[in-house]
Amino acid sequence: MTSPALLPPPGRRPRADPDLFPPPPRSARHRSRRGSRLLRLGDELSGAAADLLALAVPVDCVCCGAEDFELCAACDRHLRRLTRDPFRAETGAPALMDIGGRVLLPVVAAGVYREELAQALLSFKRHGQRQLRSSLGRALARAVLAAAGEDRAVCLVPVPTSSAAYLKRGFSPVHLLLAEVARATPGVPVADVLGKAGRAGLRLAGGQKGLGRGARAKRVRGSMKVCRRARARIAGRRCIIVDDVLTTGATLAEAARALHQAGAIVTGAVVLAATRPPDAGAAGADASGAAEATMT
Ligand SMILES: [Zn+2]
Repeated sequence: MTSPALLPPPGRRPRADPDLFPPPPRSARHRSRRGSRLLRLGDELSGAAADLLALAVPVDCVCCGAEDFELCAACDRHLRRLTRDPFRAETGAPALMDIGGRVLLPVVAAGVYREELAQALLSFKRHGQRQLRSSLGRALARAVLAAAGEDRAVCLVPVPTSSAAYLKRGFSPVHLLLAEVARATPGVPVADVLGKAGRAGLRLAGGQKGLGRGARAKRVRGSMKVCRRARARIAGRRCIIVDDVLTTGATLAEAARALHQAGAIVTGAVVLAATRPPDAGAAGADASGAAEATMT
């Protein structure tokens, strides 16, 4: 990786990754005039070298730390193995099952939220790396094809990102991944018709991490809608909802509710990764047991 000797001195304006090249003062304080001129030249050269390095050696593997690639070949292989066999995941999501164990919304997951899949997805959601996007996009495409079967008339509807999350990241991970899916599954249209419904949408901005099933469902209910202009596009059409991670299923259930209300026919959902809900232990042992059996 980058040798510390090549880092610009503190104070230089960072042009590359601010973590690698922190912003420091213009030149060192305790230098003689002659020395400072030489050192300034050194500073400039090292700044240029740092810029070159930032271009030539962008990152380490987000999973194992190996140099040079966002996702090294070995971890990419593991990722492919983890997402080779898309599976039905709704039994692990209490919001998608009724009390009698009947499936309210079938969900196909590309893989279980663990190991390379979890690490790559987490990093992608933070930084949107191009290489991760294509690897994860391909995995999601496999799940989409498994869910859609022969049905090419079905359209894909992404779950909307909260505006706060969008502002923070500057991109929507699900939408970026769907662009990859569209490349891999030509002929399957994307209908970006779901949006946030007023104040309820803002509530989503708080995030759902750490919330249990009931709290999530309550927070999400009524938070999405299909805007009036988009209704004509979706009414009477079969569609599959797409999201990144499945936990309790509350988000997907809300997306399905909003689409139903707009007259769409929701045939199911697809996620990149499925995990058991945080309160799986407290919820019915049957559901979590079934989820475990499906997911392993
Ligand atoms: Zn790796």
